[in-house]
Amino acid sequence: MSKQTVYFDYAATAPMRPEALAAMTSELAVVGNASSLHASGRRARRVVEESRESIASVLNVKPRDVVFTSGGTEADNLAIKGIYSMRRLVNPSLRRILTSPIEHHAVLDPVESLGETRKAEVRYLSADNVGRVDLDWLKTELERGSEVISLVAVMWANNEVGTIQRVAEISELCAGFKIPFHCDAVQAVGQLPVDASLVDSLALSGHKVGGPIGVGALVLRPGVNPIPLLHGGGQERDIRSGTLDTPAIAGLAAAIVAANGDMAERTTRVRKLRDDLVKRVMATITDVKRNGDPDDSLPGIANLSFEGCEGDALLLLLDAAGIECSRGSACTAGVPQPSHVLLAMGLDPQTARSSLRFSLGMNSTQADVDRLIEVLPDIVARARRAGTPRA
Ligand code: PLP
Repeated sequence: MSKQTVYFDYAATAPMRPEALAAMTSELAVVGNASSLHASGRRARRVVEESRESIASVLNVKPRDVVFTSGGTEADNLAIKGIYSMRRLVNPSLRRILTSPIEHHAVLDPVESLGETRKAEVRYLSADNVGRVDLDWLKTELERGSEVISLVAVMWANNEVGTIQRVAEISELCAGFKIPFHCDAVQAVGQLPVDASLVDSLALSGHKVGGPIGVGALVLRPGVNPIPLLHGGGQERDIRSGTLDTPAIAGLAAAIVAANGDMAERTTRVRKLRDDLVKRVMATITDVKRNGDPDDSLPGIANLSFEGCEGDALLLLLDAAGIECSRGSACTAGVPQPSHVLLAMGLDPQTARSSLRFSLGMNSTQADVDRLIEVLPDIVARARRAGTPRA
């Protein structure tokens, strides 16, 4: 990111927080495998366990409940595949998975893969036009099928539009039928108070919270024991083998603690900037639609559709002007298809393709928003002249 670059892609990856950088780099300078019994190993183990304690304390769970992984994708895969396999081992008729159509691919794809390879029967809950999952639908599904449902997977907050789900209510519904509830909280941790004790299983990721890329965690309620994806040295209570990445884990813990410490002040500031961005874009450009829940969403996300534009064209013109944003999920960027999240919210494919996600965070400034407002009207006009998206 050069000095002049305006970075509006925090939901894709956030810059490292100084606290995380310091914790990680000091660990990178020393040797030690946390499984070794000698002094260097014990020192590394201490760092890992202190990190586990800090993360557990922020998330209101016990240190033992935190299983370190290589990121959000692995945590989601381990939860979904592992819980499904464990449940079916105990009772082979538990083949149904309930999930929502607005999940990240880190949830949707393992669910679909279980459908293809392990006979899972997948049911998608409906989402409304702001991206909130229909709880009446969930309740009906649970009432009708509790004897065949393996697990429920619904995210805490959406990465494309920012809409926050009613996690406590989902949790209560699932608990009423004793069905495990996995929650992808990758975008929520660090942005909202997240009480992981509400759910049976929760995924988080380092690089969305100001920690390093390539580390994350799965938080598991006691008694939820997914069948491992990775077998080997038996680290992480045999649930996730692999030598622990002590520097990354130290960076992850430092980021989560720091993000929790300044959450109120930071998110108030970021929300104000985001609201200013939305208001001024709407005031200066015609035919713009805001996607997601305007009242209950992540503080830093603004997803906007620009009628008559191709989202990719807008993105590239903005990039040429030094402004970096995204067309929804960065993981699917480059694939010229409308976002599955926006389609599930009822947008038509053309409107979905004309959408951009601006995501703000810790280092975002008023000058960033001002710069966007300076260049965007002309860029939208140019994109509109270039033509509407293909259906
Ligand atoms: N879940 C959500 C909601 C995400 O936004 C992402 C990343 O974009 C992931 C999961 C995957 O996390 P990671 O990049 O750590 O694998």
